[in-house]
Parts: sequence; C-alpha cells; structure tokens
Amino acid sequence: MIAVAESVKKSGAQFLRGGAFKPRTSPYSFQGLHADGIKLLLEAKKVTGLPIVTEIMSELHIDLFSDVDVIQVGARNMQNFQLLKELGHSKKPILLKRGLANTIEELLMSAEYIMSGGNSNIILCERGIRTFENMTRNTLDISAVPVLKRISHLPIIIDPSHATGKTYLVEPLVKAAIAAGADGVMIETHNDPKNALCDGAQSLDLDQFAQVMATVKKRVAFEGKALS
Ligand code: PEP
Ligand code: MN
Repeated sequence: MIAVAESVKKSGAQFLRGGAFKPRTSPYSFQGLHADGIKLLLEAKKVTGLPIVTEIMSELHIDLFSDVDVIQVGARNMQNFQLLKELGHSKKPILLKRGLANTIEELLMSAEYIMSGGNSNIILCERGIRTFENMTRNTLDISAVPVLKRISHLPIIIDPSHATGKTYLVEPLVKAAIAAGADGVMIETHNDPKNALCDGAQSLDLDQFAQVMATVKKRVAFEGKALS
C-alpha cells in the first residue's frame, strides 16, 4: 500500500483511495480487510501525506472512519437512505457514486439526503450505468458531467475504471472526462494487477498510471483547467 501510495503521489495523485469494506456481488469473493484495511490506508497517509478516501457500507461502522478524510458511498449504497441520513450528521466530505441503475435526478436526491442533515461537502461521481452493452463493464454516461454542472453546484468526478472494467479504456475516458469538464478522476491502480484480489482487469500498473497522469497534465494545461 505504501509503495503504491508513494508512486501515485510522485505521478501527481492528490488522494489515496482504497476499499477496506468491499461490496462484492458474490459473498464468496474477497470482502476487504475492514478495520485492518483502514489501518493500512492510515499508514500510507502517514508516510506520504496523501489524504485517504474509503468506502462505508453501514452506518454501524461510522466510528471506524474517524481518521478517514473522505468517506465514499459506493454505487450499491447510493439509495441506502439510513446511511445517507447518518452521513448528513458527519462533517466529513462524502464521495457519492451514482448507482448502477439510477438517474441523475436520483443521484441528486441522494445528495439532498446528506445535505438536508447539514453536510453539504459532497463530491458526485459518475462511474457508469448498466445498459445492454457488454463490451464494457458499465456504460460511462459522459453527458452526466455537463448535465450536473448545469443543474447542481456540486463537483463531479469520473471513475473510468469501474465504468469500463478494462485497463485500455481508462486513458481515453480520462481524456473524455477532461473535455466534458469533470473536476477530477479516480483511477484504480495496483502494483501487480494480474494478482489483484479484486478488479485487476481494470487496474493500471504504476507505470501506466504515471503515463496517464502525464497525459492528464498536458490536457489540463491545454484546456487551462485545474483538474486533478
Ligand atoms: C469502488 O469504488 O471501489 C466500487 C466498488 O465502485 P462502485 O461502487 O462504483 O461499483
Ligand atoms: Mn474496485
């Protein structure tokens, strides 16, 4: 974890995101390291200074997140209203991912649940929606970026990794995210993707991440934006 954190920081990453609680489709798949996973993220934060982002699956775990910088609500929990209400009472920034089969309006209503509790620090994330297309894991709804920019003041980032499930599609969709006006991207990276316990097929290795970040920097400079 520390090796990955040091490398991505060198390439320009501004946050370190990793799942300690993992919402897996099968109960027999790797479920994450739970509290021990959060400890690993905090170790990497101590060494690199990178703020950490990690997913919460239940309001019962909220105490474990006291040192986490940004709490992620994953696609499968976008409409876990009890969880959203509890996060409304938190002061931490919330990264709210769009559900697999949810509309943009439903995403904004979920953000409202958090806001109505008093927490307006919300970052939205478009991570692909389920369509009939099966060449990609999901279908990235790139138009969600300008739509959300028009009707909401909240920042919106793109997750090209879960959107496509394929390493080779990450860079093109990062370029699309910049062109569409996204405020950021989150990219899955692994020091050894072939042996990753989860999502290896969509994870960049550290050199590929460095390469994508070099492209990002060039594009952002070209467009005169501050995407990170
Ligand atoms: C994740 O971000 O680790 C994740 C599980 O993604 P999603 O909730 O978008 O499926
Ligand atoms: Mn993943």
